[in-house]
Amino acid sequence: MQTNIRAFLVGGGIGSMAAAAFMIRDGHMPGGNISILEASQVLGGSLDGAGNPETGYSMRGGRMLTTDNYECTWDLYRSVPSLIHKGKSVFDETVEFNNEHKANSLARLVDKRRAKVPVTSMGFSMKDRVELLKLSQADEDTLGAGCITDWLSPEFFETDFWYMWSTTFAFQPWHSAVEFKRYLLRFMLEFTRIETLAGVKRTIYNQYDSLVLPLQSWLETQGVHIISDCRVTDLDYHTERGRFSVTGIHCAREGQAETIPVNDGDLVFLQNGSMTDASSLGSMTKAPAKLTKADGGGWTLWEKLATGRPEFGNPAAFNSCIAQSWWESFTVTLKNPDFFDQMIRFSGNQPGTGGLVTFRDSNWLMSIVLAAQPHFPNQPVDTQVFWGYALFPDQVGNYVAKPMAECNGAEILEELCGHLRFDRETLASANCIPCRMPYITSMFMPRKRGDRPDVVPAESKNLAFVSQFVEIPEDVVFTVEYSVRAAQTAVYTLLGIDRKVPPVTPHAKSVHVQLDALIKAFR
Ligand SMILES: Cc1cc2nc3c(=O)[nH]c(=O)nc-3n(C[C@H](O)[C@H](O)[C@H](O)COP(=O)(O)OP(=O)(O)OC[C@H]3O[C@@H](n4cnc5c(N)ncnc54)[C@H](O)[C@@H]3O)c2cc1C
Repeated sequence: MQTNIRAFLVGGGIGSMAAAAFMIRDGHMPGGNISILEASQVLGGSLDGAGNPETGYSMRGGRMLTTDNYECTWDLYRSVPSLIHKGKSVFDETVEFNNEHKANSLARLVDKRRAKVPVTSMGFSMKDRVELLKLSQADEDTLGAGCITDWLSPEFFETDFWYMWSTTFAFQPWHSAVEFKRYLLRFMLEFTRIETLAGVKRTIYNQYDSLVLPLQSWLETQGVHIISDCRVTDLDYHTERGRFSVTGIHCAREGQAETIPVNDGDLVFLQNGSMTDASSLGSMTKAPAKLTKADGGGWTLWEKLATGRPEFGNPAAFNSCIAQSWWESFTVTLKNPDFFDQMIRFSGNQPGTGGLVTFRDSNWLMSIVLAAQPHFPNQPVDTQVFWGYALFPDQVGNYVAKPMAECNGAEILEELCGHLRFDRETLASANCIPCRMPYITSMFMPRKRGDRPDVVPAESKNLAFVSQFVEIPEDVVFTVEYSVRAAQTAVYTLLGIDRKVPPVTPHAKSVHVQLDALIKAFR
């Protein structure tokens, strides 16, 4: 048992929480030696979810998971007890839930005539197929810091495949060609069933209640110190024979400056960068405020550390252009079943079985998802909650003569009703809370090798990076899995644990999957 070592985790997202769990479960560290320092009031970072029927529910995102991938995530959650099903793990309860709520989208794309687009064909021309094949075969050095548009012609971005793939994973044409290629390989199984989203798995409730709370509760029972309202402002360090060690942590705890000494042998895990930094909520009458990293502060520490130290990466590659990295989501709370009833009739899907419905021709490129209800444990039976998002919030709407960025919740609902041709009264009881996220796709920005630090850089003695902005071969960002894999890698490396991080499943090397993908591409 590692009884003398202490560990400090800067940031309280799923990455840090997972690292704490792996230290306890696989490193046999006492939980009391581990402290999580989180700037906000709650743990979970991007995996938020809160509210009530009176003031409305809100969550920045709704997550799609798979059980054919997410190897590290399920390795973790096989050991985390469920909060609602005694004797079961979170993994078990999630699998059972998905066996009862099988994804089979019947209205994946909807066109401007409000018609469901038949999507069994991906809509590729021979040129599209050749270009896609070339991109998926190119090595990462060749792809370099290129964009997807460097490899695919303009017509590709009009295919049904692009509309489905880009809205499922939130890709934009200007994003990293390397990351797009990684997605094609990592999620090749999803490629074969992208039109029904049949491989997608959901959590029972929103991810704060279904993933964050059970893990937090388990960490608490292990004695982990969870310190919220504690922003780490700087690190002390020294370098000896080229090895970098953190020796102290400066933080503002409930506004009071404090320094935590880091002793020889202690470990520090840093969540460098956050896709939800500087996000802001609006209301039915107010558009969300336009914040930047200067307001959020989630990048500052990484920027300080990386200055003059190329081995710690290059945050500017990810956080320098909000115009290329932002979009908006919205959460709607209803107290009248009309909207859900009409959606069930229109889509043919019960809530929780359809997944994303994307309005393909909408200027904002808007999608909505009706999850299985209730989506919050405290949600009354007469209340429904759904989530949506739009990839082009800078565009003027089709039914509201404003960019989404300028719209309050009521105006977003008006736009939605326009695309669905629902009477505005259908959403009369609705409370729509919009959310602006300036760095939501910052991980997808074109990058070159070295822009992301290794999880444990060779030069580091006791510092690991655990986030979406680290280099992990083969795996893909914008996933819970990536942060959990970073956490497991960091812990196993720094503690020298003799257990393998679960490898990325090589679906793309399976002859069956390759064949299915080829058939799909030629349909
Ligand atoms: C809208 C949306 C949709 C998504 N969809 C999916 C999906 O379908 N499937 C999927 O797998 N994933 C999805 N994700 C991604 C997934 O949620 C994230 O990859 C994951 O939650 C990131 O976790 P993290 O711990 O690395 O970082 P974060 O959650 O960003 O946590 C970082 C934490 O560090 C804290 N922090 C930062 N700086 C400091 C400091 N100096 N001091 C103290 N604390 C600090 C922040 O407050 C934050 O809590 C989605 C995310 C969003 C927002």
